[in-house]
Amino acid sequence: MTKRVLIVEDEFNIADLLKAYLERDGFEAMWVRSGEQALDELGRQSIDLIVLDIGLPGIDGFEVCRQVRARASVPILMLTAREDEIDRVAGLESGADDYVVKPFSPRELVARVKAILRRAGGASDPGVVLRWESIELRRDAREVTIDDNPVELTNREFDLLGALLAHPNIALSRDRLLELVWGGEYPGGTRTVDVHVAQLRRKLGEASPIRTVHGVGYKVAE
Ligand code: CA
Repeated sequence: MTKRVLIVEDEFNIADLLKAYLERDGFEAMWVRSGEQALDELGRQSIDLIVLDIGLPGIDGFEVCRQVRARASVPILMLTAREDEIDRVAGLESGADDYVVKPFSPRELVARVKAILRRAGGASDPGVVLRWESIELRRDAREVTIDDNPVELTNREFDLLGALLAHPNIALSRDRLLELVWGGEYPGGTRTVDVHVAQLRRKLGEASPIRTVHGVGYKVAE
């Protein structure tokens, strides 16, 4: 199965070069320019590895790494440019699996990507696991459990929960959820979101972390 690598980098030249090298080696490579977009992508699809630059517009690579770590097991390879960053990345605090110092050779980076994926599970797909308290969502198995007990969800409910769990403590508008889950098709408009959230809450019962944000939409929160 083709491995998907998400490149998070605001410099076009670096991202473009990396993408070309990864694709040449048989990876599917996607590129986003900011941490916010990276978190969106993680909520939308299964990613096998993230190549994450530290210097980004908006939230920086350390914060992106922290937010990804809080909810997913996807491996992270960080790109670092500065001396003081290297110390932080090399230390345990960042949660990154490995790091490469700029300027780097793309060949070296691809070799590191392969090494990390080998460690992460060899030929099998490491998948992406999203967690919130007792809830665990596995994209590879398309399975949701509460305290290890499986919960039966429809595809839309699964995708909706995935989108919400990928943005913990962040209010998502109904329009945003329609875009993330229904991909631009709006059957029944924003009302569709309310109906699916109601079904999801019923199925998750007391474990449901989905809160209503009045006048906006929904978020996953305490
Ligand atoms: Ca940068």
